[in-house]
Parts: sequence; structure tokens; C-alpha cells
Amino acid sequence: MVSPVATLPARPPFSLRARILTPLAAGGVRWEPDAVLEVDRSGRIASIAPSGAEPPGTESAVDVRPWVLLPGMVDLHAHLPQIPNAGLGAGLALLTWLDRYIFPLERQWSDPAVAVRLAPLAFGAFAAAGTTTTLLYGTVFAASLEAAFHAAEAHGIRAVIGKVMMDRVTYDESIDRAAILDRSLRESVELCERWHGRDEGRLRYAFTPRFAVSCTAEMLRESAAAARAAGAYWQTHVAEDRGEIAEVLRLFPEARDYVDVYDRAEGLGRRTVLAHAIHLSDRELDRLVETDTRVAHCPASNLFLASGVMPLARYLEAGLAVGLGSDVAAGPDLSIFGAMRVGAYTQNALRVVGGDSRPTLGPLEWLRMGTLDGARVLGIDDEIGSLEPGKAADLIAVDASVTAPIAGADADEPAALMSRLIFRAHPNMVRAAWVRGRALPGPE
Ligand SMILES: [Zn+2]
Repeated sequence: MVSPVATLPARPPFSLRARILTPLAAGGVRWEPDAVLEVDRSGRIASIAPSGAEPPGTESAVDVRPWVLLPGMVDLHAHLPQIPNAGLGAGLALLTWLDRYIFPLERQWSDPAVAVRLAPLAFGAFAAAGTTTTLLYGTVFAASLEAAFHAAEAHGIRAVIGKVMMDRVTYDESIDRAAILDRSLRESVELCERWHGRDEGRLRYAFTPRFAVSCTAEMLRESAAAARAAGAYWQTHVAEDRGEIAEVLRLFPEARDYVDVYDRAEGLGRRTVLAHAIHLSDRELDRLVETDTRVAHCPASNLFLASGVMPLARYLEAGLAVGLGSDVAAGPDLSIFGAMRVGAYTQNALRVVGGDSRPTLGPLEWLRMGTLDGARVLGIDDEIGSLEPGKAADLIAVDASVTAPIAGADADEPAALMSRLIFRAHPNMVRAAWVRGRALPGPE
């Protein structure tokens, strides 16, 4: 993240003079073409005021104009160990892709030294993409998860991470099959005890049964109970791929559908984030809404693996809580701006090919979904997700000039600016990222 500004502030307190664009908790957006954002000593946003009207003491603001400040992106679904294989295996069936490209990579994390080396690079890459909050899957290996948490703690990113739990199918050849459930639960509980809530809640734990194909009913139920007892999250995948759904219904003949498998495990609820949820029946959708279960929409991944097309407008109309996920490595791009772009194209395709006449999202609605709605899914929207006084200074500085098609064609009104960031996203447009006013290192 190279900066033309001589010194960008690395720690609070500081003030930035910039353009500012943010969704607001009360609805709508705030757009300031020239304003000063002040971060206090504790890393919270103290004030945002149009330039010239800023409170006394903020005259020494670092001027980063014409960069624009946005809330940091919230990525609700990604797989930390898979990042090296991002962009490989387009169009494969999910279960084939897992065997060929993913399990070999995750197996390498049986050596925690691999996690020690790769996790800091991965967090740097997320920050460079503009992501300041991530909800991540690790691998089945507890020592590598410990290393991942240490890396997140040192890096500064806001992260919810979980050890992958698998007791029906696993790539861990060292494990005693008879003890697998107990060991997986014990290791997950220990990690949760050590890391959930660390650094005043910057780091949190998610119990992470991979998906129903690789977990027994007992594993699903016990992990959900452990998450509830600890006040931690519970995350898994649902209804991503037709082959996967058929397999789940074969493995759980007592369940009436895929969502019912998790319902029977008492896994649904407001601390649960289900990735994908592409192919939901009306009953499944209603049940997720009724239980206040949240969903990570991963449009780039869904098309990369040809898994399907999520009927987002139908879900939103039903009242489902949805945020965005990159799903790296099934999604080729770490950027949530990339997820917005593919999501928008997907909605357009649903209109022209699928005959869905519901409204599609505009650029500012995608911004909200990638920030404040993501924070809402995690239940931390009182803390992050928008640039408003009192919230943590989790923000990014974006150089929108690199998204202009030719020099001098810069966008200078909010929807146009956001449209450029989505549809002409540039890999180097995010110039800095902060969590609680602390600058996040990039991938260097
Ligand atoms: Zn996934």
C-alpha cells in the first residue's frame, strides 16, 4: 500500500482531511466532498465535520484528498489456508474441487510452521484489498489455528476464526477415528477459551463444522451447543451445490431439507453465519428468517465453481440478514469490491435470463451490504460498519483516480464514485486501512 502522502498516521490520535462516503446506521449515506475525520486516542471516531467547520485541534489533519475514506469492508466468508490457490479450478464440481485443490493445501497446515509463514501474508492481502474485518475458516489442525490467531493479533485486523471440524470425512490421516469427535470439540473449546474476545473483542471465535457432508449429526449438535455456551459464533456452509445437497439428503434421511439438518442440531440463530445458501426452498428461507440466522453471500465463488445463482432480491424481500463474502479460494478475488461486482452482474442476469423483476441493488446499497450489513450479521454494528462518531475507526483510504477510464474523468458524486470502485476496481486503489485507528500492514 504505497502512499504519495509523506506520512500516513499509524496510530491514534490523528485527523484526516479527505472525501468521505459511508452508509449510516439510521439509513441512507453520508457524503462529504471535503471533510475532516478525527480519531481519538482510544481509536474511536470523535467527529466528522466539513472542512472549515472542524472542531478546534484538528487543523493539523493529514490531507489525503482526493482519496476517499470508506468504512473497512467486512468479509463474512473466506478460507485462510486456501488463499495460495485462489483462481484455480474454475467450473469444477464442488466435491471434485475440494479433493483436487483444497484438501492438499489444508493438509499442509498440519505443520504449524506453514501457518506461521502464510497467515501474516494472508492478513496483509486482506488489508490491501480493503477488508478490515474477516470471518474465516482455518483447517482441522489446532496448532495451525493457534498460529493464525497469533498472526491476526500481531497484524491488527479484526478477525473471527474457527478450527474446521470434520468427523465424517477428514483429510487428517493422523487422527484416531474413534476419538475424532471428542478431540475436535475439545480443541475447538480450548481455542475459543483462549481467543474469543481477545483484545477487547477484536478477535473472536467461531465453531466451524465444515458442512453437513463432512460432519455427523452429533458433531453438528455438539459444536452448536459449545458455541452457545461460549457466546461464540457458529459457521458452516449450506445449499451451495446441487451435488452437495443430494449428498446431504442421503446422509440425513430424517431431515426434511438441508436447513433442517442444521435446525435439528439447534444450529440456527443470530450467532450463526451460513455461507452461500444459494438453493433454498421457501420453507428453508422462512426458517432462516424466523430464527434470525445470517447468511454470507459469495457471488464470485458461486459463479467460479458454477454452484448456482443466489436469488438475493427474493431473500432480502423475505427479510434475511445478508452480508458479503469473498469465499477465497472458491472465490478468486480477496476483494469485497469484487464480490459486489459479480453480485451486481448476477442480479442483472437474474433479471434478463431468470425473469426476476424485483429491484436490483445500486452501488450505494452494495456499499452498505459490504460494510454495515456485514457488521450487522456479526452483531457488531454498534462498533463498526460505518463512519459515525463513537464507532471504532475501522476505515480505508481509497484512491478512486485509478478507477477512472481516462485522466480527468474522475467521479465526484457518491453513487458514481462507488460505481467506479465496484465496476472498475483497481488492485492498488486501497492505499491504507486502519482498525481502531491502527494502520494495518499490507502484504509486503
Ligand atoms: Zn467456503
